[in-house]
Amino acid sequence: MWFKKKVQAKPEEKLDLPEGLWVKCESCGEILYRSELEKRVWICPKCNFHFRIGSRDYIALLLDEGLLEELDSEMEPLDPLDFPDYKKKLKSAQQSTKLKDGLVYGRAKIGGIPVIFASMDFAFMGGSMGSVVGEKVARAIRLARSEKKPLIIVSTSGGARMQEGIFSLMQLSKTSAELALLAKERVPYISILTHPTMAGVMASYASLGDIIIAEPGALIGFTGPRVIEQTIGEKLPPGFQRSEFMLEHGMIDLLVSRTELRNTLIRLLKIICKVQ
Ligand SMILES: [Zn+2]
Repeated sequence: MWFKKKVQAKPEEKLDLPEGLWVKCESCGEILYRSELEKRVWICPKCNFHFRIGSRDYIALLLDEGLLEELDSEMEPLDPLDFPDYKKKLKSAQQSTKLKDGLVYGRAKIGGIPVIFASMDFAFMGGSMGSVVGEKVARAIRLARSEKKPLIIVSTSGGARMQEGIFSLMQLSKTSAELALLAKERVPYISILTHPTMAGVMASYASLGDIIIAEPGALIGFTGPRVIEQTIGEKLPPGFQRSEFMLEHGMIDLLVSRTELRNTLIRLLKIICKVQ
């Protein structure tokens, strides 16, 4: 059974953002006025660094009236491996984020065009993909296929959730197989990569978009640069795995600033859906 809940993004529900009146930019070190940053959708005015924001922020930013008809909002993870401290970590993540797990999805409209929309939260255990995140992605894809509506997923993730072991890894093949069925029906899928989108999520649905958009400066890849350098014993080129580098090397289609993301989606959806 699907649980339906209307989610209206509320400005006070900032999840993944630093507290206080002043905020230091992680990238350039500039001290910034918080309310100014909020107005600029959390983009540093000095260096264009895109601060990490949560699923509720993307709902507010991208969807018509900031409204998502959320599905399966009560679905929450089990602890199939009885992994040490997993239950405790889950509980604390649920309390701090007020989410059951790190992904929300449902029906929405963008520029009046009905879509299936999903968005991840890095604040929930590093945006890790366990059985619930994977299952929700799979259901979002199936819904897009059955209702013939374009699918949009905003990704951010450190990778698979190690506390669920093989149950996490299964999600890679499950979501990829569902996307193959979606492609067969010729239903479009737009993947939006935000900082960071790594490992298991990048190795499955995040990299399988018909159109892949990334925010500027986002770290995108499978294994992180430090591990690669240690493994191959060589220094990597500057900007390796940043979205600008990925665009140059053909791994993504568009680099879009957060301020332009909604307009870009509307333009793309109108072309894809042949709306005048
Ligand atoms: Zn900055």
